[in-house]
Amino acid sequence: MKGLKDRLISGLLLLLSLALCFFSTQKFREQHKKETLFPSGGLASREMLSSYFPGLIDTPGDTEVYIYGGQNPGGNILILGGAHPNEPAGYVTAVLLIENIQVSQGKIIVIPRANNSGFTHSEPQEGNLRGYSLETPGGKRFFRFGSRLTNPIHQWPDPTLYINPSGQKLSGQESRNLNRCYPGKPKGYLTEKIAFAIMEIIKKEKIDLAIDLHEAAPEYPVVNAIVFHENSAELASYSLMELQQIGFEFRLELSPNNLRGLSHREWGDHAQVMAILLETANPSQGRLKGKSSLSLIIEGKDRNYSKAAKFGLLFVPFDGEGIPIKLRVARHLAAIKILLSSFNELNPEKRIEVNHMPSSSQVKLKGIGQFLCPPYRK
Ligand SMILES: [Zn+2]
Repeated sequence: MKGLKDRLISGLLLLLSLALCFFSTQKFREQHKKETLFPSGGLASREMLSSYFPGLIDTPGDTEVYIYGGQNPGGNILILGGAHPNEPAGYVTAVLLIENIQVSQGKIIVIPRANNSGFTHSEPQEGNLRGYSLETPGGKRFFRFGSRLTNPIHQWPDPTLYINPSGQKLSGQESRNLNRCYPGKPKGYLTEKIAFAIMEIIKKEKIDLAIDLHEAAPEYPVVNAIVFHENSAELASYSLMELQQIGFEFRLELSPNNLRGLSHREWGDHAQVMAILLETANPSQGRLKGKSSLSLIIEGKDRNYSKAAKFGLLFVPFDGEGIPIKLRVARHLAAIKILLSSFNELNPEKRIEVNHMPSSSQVKLKGIGQFLCPPYRK
């Protein structure tokens, strides 16, 4: 009798663990589903990154490439979001461009999930949410909050010491950081292959100007910044003055020559493209942040950061109003718009004409969701 009871308890425990495994697997698998994007009518074609470098076919590094314009020759522009999927303003800005713009002269190529693998996991010790929703006029849209690094289930193990394709020695886990792997390697780690494929786009599409959208912690010195390769010094300084005139303070940072593997350095060195990286201040990824929460991602409010600002520890102003994601996206949009108009001023023979780009003032006023398609649009 006692044996039967024991067997029953063991059976129940086994069933319970199977059920737990089943539900946690579902949660785990959900992280690998991409949210649907709804490109504007101006989309000329949608490619995969692997069409520029077949080494990415059937890998988690393959990702969508959205192409606008191209009918009338002009400047060719590449805009990258999601190189670091824990920096939501970069990703959301790329999505806003995809869902709104029309290009009547020149070409704009947008890659919203540059490190696609990084969107499939989060960093456990950060306690980050899996994602966040933005309210559109027709309902909520969900966006994933990922990790700065490629998912270890896609690239493992990390070396003890990582020597990147440009010879820089870094800690092992940086082998999964897309923005340390340029110019990439066709037969390297997955992240190096992604970097290589992005270099291939730059070369094959004859890109003139490439912009990498990022965010950084408010205590990091390179924040609210335009980081530029020396070949885009004129463009960056010209744009800085224009941005100041419309009320956006940025600092200019020359890409350091001895810090290798970063987009703004290697894109410029290896493809002679004008290379720019934009940074906004994101409290949800900083070391001083309090509890990770939806409000921290969306409203950008955090008491620790308000306190740190009072002690002069931050590189941006920070008060009880926080730095909401809509302001950070508005800042990216303002910088992109001014960079494009400055590009036209400096390169009249290669004009780029973009219509329906959401304006920074409207995004600040109405919020991001007003410029996103509702979730049900086909
Ligand atoms: Zn970043």
